[in-house]
Amino acid sequence: MNGQEMHDFMTELYPLCRSLTGEGTKETLRMIGERIPMTMTSVPSGTDVLGWTVPDEWNPRSAYIITPDGRKIADFAEHNLHLNNYSESVHATMTLDELRPHLCSLPDHPEWIPYRYDYYWNPGWGFCLKDRELASLQPGEYRVHIDADKRPGNLHYGECIIPGETDEMILLSTYICHPSLCNDNLSGPVVLTALAERLRQLPRRYTYRLLFVPEVSGAIAWLASLPLDEMRIAGGLVVMCCGDPGSITYKRSKQGTSACDRIVETVLRDRGQSYSAIDWHPNGSDERQFCSPGLNWPVGCLMRTAPAVFPEYHTSADNCEFVTATALGDTLDVLTAIIDSLESNLTYTSTHPIAEAYLGDAYAPTLDARLLQGWVLALSDGRTSVLDMAERAGLPFGDIACAAELLCNQGFITKGNS
Ligand code: ZN
Repeated sequence: MNGQEMHDFMTELYPLCRSLTGEGTKETLRMIGERIPMTMTSVPSGTDVLGWTVPDEWNPRSAYIITPDGRKIADFAEHNLHLNNYSESVHATMTLDELRPHLCSLPDHPEWIPYRYDYYWNPGWGFCLKDRELASLQPGEYRVHIDADKRPGNLHYGECIIPGETDEMILLSTYICHPSLCNDNLSGPVVLTALAERLRQLPRRYTYRLLFVPEVSGAIAWLASLPLDEMRIAGGLVVMCCGDPGSITYKRSKQGTSACDRIVETVLRDRGQSYSAIDWHPNGSDERQFCSPGLNWPVGCLMRTAPAVFPEYHTSADNCEFVTATALGDTLDVLTAIIDSLESNLTYTSTHPIAEAYLGDAYAPTLDARLLQGWVLALSDGRTSVLDMAERAGLPFGDIACAAELLCNQGFITKGNS
């Protein structure tokens, strides 16, 4: 998929009412699974996963309020943000004063609908509506209707595994639990779907595991299912909020200086476009799970504008117009460059370890190319990676990687440490 095709796919997914569980989330996984090979795992409600309990499955059918003058407002059928995610069923008549604590709006953005949820640690019910509409409500009797199932079922997550030459893994994770919201959250799933399509086109050194999970609970359920002792994670990224027009933001893994962290920052630096790199902090997405003390995997987070920084965050204004095809395409290009760099971050060993090799016809024709050649030959000691070379030489990673590949093909260096 290119940028426009990703945007089209996002537009198809947009109307579904996703949540931690339920049909909208399952349908989202099914639609992703039509494009890439994916296994869907079901975890029954009530299952203990690393001290958390898998919640009941939530499936809303209809929800609205009838005003004293007979108008239907906050209709779930018009916009699924009108109903608080995980609301309980309610059929009641009440005064405006009784109703008001269950209503939420954004006075600073009177035309936007906020996004709220009543997850299992804070059960209840509520509606979100435009502030303009809320401000116009008159005293009187209101009829509240919420028809939603909340009963034992399953939590679902999807995983796409693309095997490589080694069982060393690159973990790429995103979440699929927000209703009709685009940057946070559909941008992540559509970009990772497109990346999986690309990854499958070429043989790879690493094995790739792409996760599509309900945030927090899904990632924890996935971790609970793993033989953690056997996991060899070479690097990874949580991919989220990656379709807005802002520049790229990279949040480092908790390790901060892993090879994967350094490669991401090298790729961003070498692109020559503005970006920011920030240190790990405990707010965020599932990098919180992957960087927990017992794992401490080198998994950072790739975004454009970080969540809560853009005003549209968690509102109806985070829609298909806010996310652009250009930004989705650009994020995919950045991710592709990161993957290509991870794949080509090899070590090489000189076949002429004593004194400079006589290069003959292989002697590079330009000063710049000779500098690259000189650095690679000098640092091909079987221990220094392409990344180390690029950092030491202060030259673009891609140029060093190309020079190394050429010298390898010419027989002056060999891959690995032998
Ligand atoms: Zn969010």
